[in-house]
Amino acid sequence: MRIAGEVLRNLFRKPATIQYPKQQTQIEPDARGRHFADLKKCIGCSLCAMDCPSKAIVMKKLPEDKKPPQNRRGLYPVINYLNCIYCYRCVTICPVKAYVTSSEYRLATESKVLTSEELSLSTLSR
Ligand code: SF4
Ligand code: SF4
Repeated sequence: MRIAGEVLRNLFRKPATIQYPKQQTQIEPDARGRHFADLKKCIGCSLCAMDCPSKAIVMKKLPEDKKPPQNRRGLYPVINYLNCIYCYRCVTICPVKAYVTSSEYRLATESKVLTSEELSLSTLSR
């Protein structure tokens, strides 16, 4: 009898879950999401990679023909989003504020590699 009462009550209650992705979750505008370095600003200092607590950043060499003048070392940071904990330490430590931030959290993909490489390289042709 108690179970029947519980079933009846739940029939008229508002659902506790939503129909994702048809219905989207609300995200705070300052939520920490996908970020990448703007290579027109980055000076290749490696500070972000050295300070990343989850070792999610590796410094890669820029192609010779794409080296911006301010980046004498020719290095740029590539974030592995699968290792990143979105603490934004890299964003705050960058001396030239090179990181572009967003609240984008929908990063699911079939690929086993998910990095900031393409996004960063695309900043050189903007
Ligand atoms: S947000 Fe934090 S964990 Fe992610 S790359 Fe930056 S420093 Fe590393
Ligand atoms: S800390 Fe900033 S300037 Fe230095 S490598 Fe990282 S993104 Fe580039």
